[in-house]
Amino acid sequence: MKLLLSIIMTTFISTTIFCQDTMLCMGSYWTEDEANLMMKKFESEWNDVASWEKRAKRIKQGIIAGMQLDKMPDISGDFNEIITKNQVMDGYTVENIALESFPGFYITGNLYRPIGNKEKHAAILSPHGHLENKRLTIDVQKRCAVLARMGAIVFAYDMVGYGESNQVKHKIPIALLLQTWNSKRVLDYLISLPNVDPERIGMTGGSGGGTQTFILTAIDDRIKASAPVVQVSAHFFGGCVCESGMPIHKSKNHQTNNVEIAALSAPNPLMLVSNGNDWTRNTPRIEYPYLQKVYALYNAEHKAENVHLPLEKHDYGFSKRSAMYNFFSHHLKLNSRNVPYSDGYKEDFVFIFPAEELKVFNEINPKPNNLLQGDEAVMQFLDISLKE
Ligand SMILES: [Zn+2]
Repeated sequence: MKLLLSIIMTTFISTTIFCQDTMLCMGSYWTEDEANLMMKKFESEWNDVASWEKRAKRIKQGIIAGMQLDKMPDISGDFNEIITKNQVMDGYTVENIALESFPGFYITGNLYRPIGNKEKHAAILSPHGHLENKRLTIDVQKRCAVLARMGAIVFAYDMVGYGESNQVKHKIPIALLLQTWNSKRVLDYLISLPNVDPERIGMTGGSGGGTQTFILTAIDDRIKASAPVVQVSAHFFGGCVCESGMPIHKSKNHQTNNVEIAALSAPNPLMLVSNGNDWTRNTPRIEYPYLQKVYALYNAEHKAENVHLPLEKHDYGFSKRSAMYNFFSHHLKLNSRNVPYSDGYKEDFVFIFPAEELKVFNEINPKPNNLLQGDEAVMQFLDISLKE
């Protein structure tokens, strides 16, 4: 017992010193009690649109500076997309696709498109959380195919260091930057497509995909509707280097948390999906009321939703997907009637591909030969150092 206490105290003290030294706010940086008080403190710092927007601007600048987004190469276009397969399914198609994120560094993914409609389409970015080959799993295939059949062009892409994105390790110190940059490039690409309506762009992901969703939405107003799932929390800052490994939450000029980062989407439509078993368990009492106060400044309370599922756990399962289908169907003007419905959406029209069939690269379709390979090569190319 004494040993356990000692380990806990040592961990607590070293974590505290670490955070103070580096400005990083990682994992459960605050207790739930502390987070509740901090939300009250944050709220005391604004009382109208002007004072909120002043705070919002400071937070946005803190995020961008904290992840060193301004150090990325100044490129536009030049996606050099590689499409190695296109399969026609029941009401949608699936392409295996890679984009060049910056010279020598590739985003690997699948592009799901609706069939049989020549009008402009909504587009939805679909990042994912921490599971090897998550992009290729059944639940990601289902949610992308359903949204495509409803009329959206959906891009599912690998987390850095997961699936086919194996040029660097996931724990590379700049993972947060690389993932945000990849998302921005996917957004650039979708908007460049001639049949995408830039006024109807959405983004959704669960867990670490939720983090990617609220971070890009906060700093890029081209995302018009956003659904981060099981991740926005007042006390939990994300446990991985790709979520909190760069000082986006705290600097000499700002201190914030993921609730305020999500609130930067105001007054665009936002839906938090939360559950009773992880760091989102307090959402109806702590996180969502704060968002409602921000949205009220714009008379947009109806555009910030919370679907709380107290009997569920940390996943992006059927009930969570169903809430998201309704949210995007409404806000991005999708046609939900294209998907069978009887006591709930019927996803069984979705053909579940074996993982190998959704991969961009294989023996027949080798990777390009200009790849930057390894953490060091990428860090050197970008000329980014984490030391002050
Ligand atoms: Zn991560």
